[in-house]
Amino acid sequence: LEAAITAHSIDGNATRPIRSVSVAPEDDVTQFTEYRRLKATMRQMQLTGCPNPYFTVHDNIVSDTTMIDGETYISFASYNYLGLSGHPEVSAAASDAIAQYGTSVSASRLVSGEKPIHGQLERRIAEWVGVDAAITMVGGHATNETTIGHLVGPEDLILHDALSHNSIVQGALLSGAKRRPFPHNDYESLDRMLTALRHQYRRTLIVIEGVYSMDGDFADVPKFIEVKKRHRCMLMVDEAHSFGTMGKTGHGIAEHFGLNPKDVDIWMGTLSKSASSCGGYIAGPQALVELLRYTAPGFVFSVGMPPSQVAAAIASLDVLEREPERVERLRQNSQLFLSLCRKSGLDTGDSGGTPVVPVITGNSLVALRLSNRLKKDAINVQPILYPAVDESAARLRFFITSEHSEEQIRFTVDRTQFHYNELQGIPATSLAETG
Ligand code: PMP
Repeated sequence: LEAAITAHSIDGNATRPIRSVSVAPEDDVTQFTEYRRLKATMRQMQLTGCPNPYFTVHDNIVSDTTMIDGETYISFASYNYLGLSGHPEVSAAASDAIAQYGTSVSASRLVSGEKPIHGQLERRIAEWVGVDAAITMVGGHATNETTIGHLVGPEDLILHDALSHNSIVQGALLSGAKRRPFPHNDYESLDRMLTALRHQYRRTLIVIEGVYSMDGDFADVPKFIEVKKRHRCMLMVDEAHSFGTMGKTGHGIAEHFGLNPKDVDIWMGTLSKSASSCGGYIAGPQALVELLRYTAPGFVFSVGMPPSQVAAAIASLDVLEREPERVERLRQNSQLFLSLCRKSGLDTGDSGGTPVVPVITGNSLVALRLSNRLKKDAINVQPILYPAVDESAARLRFFITSEHSEEQIRFTVDRTQFHYNELQGIPATSLAETG
């Protein structure tokens, strides 16, 4: 189906080949290398005899439990960290907003999509983060992509953590800036890279995350602030997983470290996790937000957040402000889960007591089989397999919520250890035996 052709250029009288390309029928996706690779991976997965772990259909609100095919499972696979998705007050606020404003704002906010609740939410986010202003966009991924892609360009440098989320990498690629990852959480390497490179570029943007979504660890943000000040560049922190979860009252990684939020140039976060909504935000100085409001393509040329989702995010912040004990419960649950895993000898990598706890199996097949066995114990947790991570980093990723009970956590770690040991051919001991 593919034909090799050779293109020629006329160079004086001589005709010489300049490149060789494979021409594929351009309308046939089944012939795309990428599609064939996907199908090969799926066939390999089928050969394990385990059901496909992706696109599982959940029939209700997912919190500490979920409903799959009419059965109830303990859930460790959702971002509903604080149990606010499905909270009656949050759902009622979303319904009321639909009644008042409809299901869509039906335009970019710049033209005719602006509603009073948009500004209200943005003021709340700015206050929550502790900076001057904020702007919201329809997706967290799109927020990173458009903001990074827009604020820097080909004359600039982006240095991002090697384990950065895809949306950060996509934004960096879009920008056309020189992109260099630095080793995970390693501010000293970053410092050295800046010494070598900073002077060659107009602007330099450093991007890190509040909590890393695969490993559940976090950066020493005060150290990154020192480095960014020393080299006079911009620091952006993605708080997708730290907004609402870190700090005593959920104000994020700045509260955790007791730092001045204004020392970070760009705070980014998503509303799809702790805020039980959908969308992303950028918070920072007034000028940054004003620039994005009038010029960021993903904001200017995209519809505004729908009223239901804006109202849900505001109501979530209301509940969280009134009930900071949710954050404390989440922290206690996360720490209990982590310490039980460690006592059981499970490899949790560098997880730092955040609501993301990986159990690294070091082998995709073991991860897949382990999640499948846990399903039979009515525990739902997602395996993360090659090629999403390196084969040696294959894992189960547990997302903890404030709503999990101690009993659910102890049972889950106990069963994980039991099955993992069996899969390793190691005699199984239960948590009760290891103490
Ligand atoms: N940043 C990080 C660190 C994320 O983990 C995610 C998604 N989980 C996003 C951005 C994108 O957010 P959303 O899913 O709300 O689009």
